[in-house]
Amino acid sequence: ARWGDGLLTATSDGDAALCLPEMPSKAPVSLPATMHALSDRGISAPILLRVQPFLDRSLTRLHAAFAKAFKDVGYQGTYRGVFPIKVNQQSEVISRLIRVGQAHHYGLEVGSKPELMIALAQPLSPQALLICNGAKDEGFVRLALLSGKAGFNTVLVIESLREFETIRRIATQLDIRPQLGVRLKLTERVGGKWQASSGDRSAFGLGGHDLLTLVQRLKASGFIDCLMLQHTHLGSQVPDIIDIRRAAAEACRFYVELTALGAPLTHMDLGGGLGVDYTGARARDDNSVNYSVQEYCTNLAETLRHAMEAAGLDHPTIVTESGRFVVAQSSIFIFDVLDATLYDSAEKPELRDGDHHLLSDLAAVEGYIDSTRLREAFNDTIYYRDELRALFRRGQIDLEQLARTEQSFLYLASRFKAAAHIHGDLSAELGTGVDHYHGNFSLFQSLPDVWAIDQLHPIMPIQRLNEAPNRRAVFHDLTCDSDGTINRFILEGGIGDALPVHPLREGEAYHIGVFFVGAYQETLGDLHNLFGDAPIVTITLEGPDGFTIEHETEGDSIAEVLSYVEYDPGACLDAFRQTVEKAVAAGKLSPSERRMMTAAYKSSLAGHTYFHTASPIIG
Ligand code: PLP
Repeated sequence: ARWGDGLLTATSDGDAALCLPEMPSKAPVSLPATMHALSDRGISAPILLRVQPFLDRSLTRLHAAFAKAFKDVGYQGTYRGVFPIKVNQQSEVISRLIRVGQAHHYGLEVGSKPELMIALAQPLSPQALLICNGAKDEGFVRLALLSGKAGFNTVLVIESLREFETIRRIATQLDIRPQLGVRLKLTERVGGKWQASSGDRSAFGLGGHDLLTLVQRLKASGFIDCLMLQHTHLGSQVPDIIDIRRAAAEACRFYVELTALGAPLTHMDLGGGLGVDYTGARARDDNSVNYSVQEYCTNLAETLRHAMEAAGLDHPTIVTESGRFVVAQSSIFIFDVLDATLYDSAEKPELRDGDHHLLSDLAAVEGYIDSTRLREAFNDTIYYRDELRALFRRGQIDLEQLARTEQSFLYLASRFKAAAHIHGDLSAELGTGVDHYHGNFSLFQSLPDVWAIDQLHPIMPIQRLNEAPNRRAVFHDLTCDSDGTINRFILEGGIGDALPVHPLREGEAYHIGVFFVGAYQETLGDLHNLFGDAPIVTITLEGPDGFTIEHETEGDSIAEVLSYVEYDPGACLDAFRQTVEKAVAAGKLSPSERRMMTAAYKSSLAGHTYFHTASPIIG
């Protein structure tokens, strides 16, 4: 309820289920049932589930919030949103946003030439903006300038004085009057993970001195009439609304000054920064925001209105490049747990004649795990275990006794956990003994920001939510890298280092959902250990099963990932065949083994990179 933003609920059967707050009468769509139905179609975890109505919803909410803000505040200008392609470049996402955003003349922001190519292949409405940011070479500039002739509403945002010279030269050659913008550095700094994008030490945009020089050059070259947009960007996921307000106020100061200098500005582009409340804390911290989308829009409209009226200027068209807000909630990453390493055990080991006396001392601790001697019992357990390990290292006890030591320790840990549950005082120390759940995924491929910048996503089991989760676990991925671990979680009382989970059941799938992963994750992911893209399934929340598969993108095959790192899969197969042939010729392999090996190699090349579970999903 806290972080789900009304998009998630739990059914009475304990299933996590998707819902649309705007359609309360619609039955929630169970995620385990969806996984089951996908498994019937041969699609299994890990998968990225894209929920199309969630994408539509965010886009609609953004436009509705600006419309309401303009009405409430009496703002006379228009809002023109653009989607920054870098936040999610996937073709299906972009075309959906353009289709749904058509009514609002929703446009695109590009920050590179490949992104420009994507934008120019979209059926943008003539009023929709195509904002060109980023470093632009001659080819980029030429194409962007010419695109205006083909009906695109393209704005070239000048990022540096040198870039202006390129634009001026090519526009003059082509005899085109371009629509120009200028990216400014604000002096206000904002909080959050991306604070380096703000302030005068930001790597992007022009400071006050360069800006004045640019205005002089625009005037001298006769291009000042083309300057119609002012661009600022504070960085992504700005946590504090006060920072946003202050930055908008400073942007207005620049706008007023530039206008006074003769720039016929009509558009104020405030970039990205509109955040997502991943933790639901409504707090001014890295993974949350202390404002709603409505508050964001109202604050911008109010700030701009006051500033423009004080300066006697018309209200400009407000442009935002909100990416994270538009796409984050629309994707859910779901992986299955393959195995667990438990740090307690219900099984009490039998001591043998001849066992070292410390083993009986260790076993005897069980007799005084009670409220009065809990701490003493815990200290003794650690002492006896460590002494026994030292004896093993010195060759004084054998492997069998070491095994009984470890088993006794795990058994006692379970007794302590039961007692600590009652008394609570040892829970922190016992917390270090959390279970390790081994997940069928790659953190580096599917959740790169969790690894790189400690991004927190809401994470929870998607089934058995009507059953107390009586274990605590961290998740390890399939890579042979200890960094491939999720060990920070959004919990009831704040951030915790282990997630409450259920014990695994034999033959029954246990799926974990990682929510709100639609922004930035898909293309930032890498091929560590050569785990490729997981399959992507896009669903709508309609149809006889409660959902319909709109689109399915296969995950990377092994042959594909091999080719990404410059192997020719066919050549690999040939090389393998030759080795096998030699082994057959030497009598080490039989012809039937040759057939089996070659078939296994070929089918592996065509198969996926993730762990293939043969057992069916039950439950
Ligand atoms: N615009 C520009 C220029 C950016 O660099 C970014 C990302 O940092 C965005 C827009 C998107 O920001 P957000 O995802 O916070 O909306």
